[in-house]
Amino acid sequence: MDISYIINELGEDRSQYAGAVAPPIMQTAMFSFDTVEKMRETLQQESEMPFYTRGHNPTTHILEQKMAALENAEDALVFASGSAAVAAAVIANVNQGDHVVCVQKPYSWTNKLLNSFLNRFGVTNTMVDGTDPQNFESAIQPNTRVLFLESPNSWTFEQQDLAAVAQIAKKHDIVTIIDNSYATPLFQKPIDYGIDIVVHSATKYISGHSDTVAGVLCASKAMTNKIFASEYMTLGGVVAPFNAWLLLRGLRTLPTRMDRVSATTAIVVNYLQEHSMVSKIYYPYLESDPQYTLAKKQMTKGAGQFTIELAIDDIALIEKFCNHLQRFLMACSWGGHESLIFPACVLHTSANYNRAVPPVNMIRFCIGLETPEALIADIEQAFGAIIPEIR
Ligand SMILES: *Cc1c(COP(=O)(O)O)cnc(C)c1O
Repeated sequence: MDISYIINELGEDRSQYAGAVAPPIMQTAMFSFDTVEKMRETLQQESEMPFYTRGHNPTTHILEQKMAALENAEDALVFASGSAAVAAAVIANVNQGDHVVCVQKPYSWTNKLLNSFLNRFGVTNTMVDGTDPQNFESAIQPNTRVLFLESPNSWTFEQQDLAAVAQIAKKHDIVTIIDNSYATPLFQKPIDYGIDIVVHSATKYISGHSDTVAGVLCASKAMTNKIFASEYMTLGGVVAPFNAWLLLRGLRTLPTRMDRVSATTAIVVNYLQEHSMVSKIYYPYLESDPQYTLAKKQMTKGAGQFTIELAIDDIALIEKFCNHLQRFLMACSWGGHESLIFPACVLHTSANYNRAVPPVNMIRFCIGLETPEALIADIEQAFGAIIPEIR
């Protein structure tokens, strides 16, 4: 299906709302009926029909249809956060005593879900180096029910071979879930490679404006029906209609933003690659990256996140460099219109919960919609502020 059709038309029936170009925000908790019969009939199809907004809302439903089509999935569910979507996908597919194999170093709260929350319910896991698909197979136990991927993963952007892992999972009758937030459905379509469930932090590129927290889950109709009837309705972490509307608005410009972000990132990464202050870059779409061939196979472009290691380990100077950046905001999250850094030294405090944290000289960047010239000039002046002090 044509992407511009999905984004501009699919799921929208403007004749239903006075020809309004932007769909209405159905900011209502519930929907009313003229007759008992109509109400009874609607309740039978609570996931498909406007009955109660925890189950179905027409504004949210437009977004569900678009996201499902973008991911080549049969159906989608929208959640109040990416973490709610991740949790629903995993919890729906495990019972007490089951086991999950997960790529190592997933997003921090995915890690927490598996290593703290689900442990309370007797669900165990093995975290594997996902760069070799064989590691997933080797970690499979008789009670393994889920293989969890995040490709590229957070901070260091290692990839997993989606087709190979999906094939292993099918052989063992195990459900595969991928966190596809980094690539978006525009740059990577995991379902085409045989992955069962795709989840997104829609807070990031789908929203694209750093003004909404939300999540999306795309899968077969059978899978979304199963999740709807349990985790979606019981845990109830569904998106508010207004936030769904903001996501629809963000989605309108997703292709334009992603193309721009990808092009600017290539320029900034090239600049940093040559810089004597940078000892290493983690970016999957770099020709020198060990997984570049895989990146070209399963992602059409590189997105805007990468991590650098500075060629210094003096924390005071690292902090000074970060503090001197003007155009890059210092914040968590990513995927909005603005460029950001997240310095790993933020995580190096006495209260870092003893978790494995990225080395202190790592800085994660996310490129926004500024010009590459402005961003490079900003980095250059911040390096200029610390270079005289290096001994
Ligand atoms: C931010 C993020 C999440 C969590 O999403 P929220 O919307 O913040 O709940 C999950 N996975 C990845 C890769 C993320 O970056």
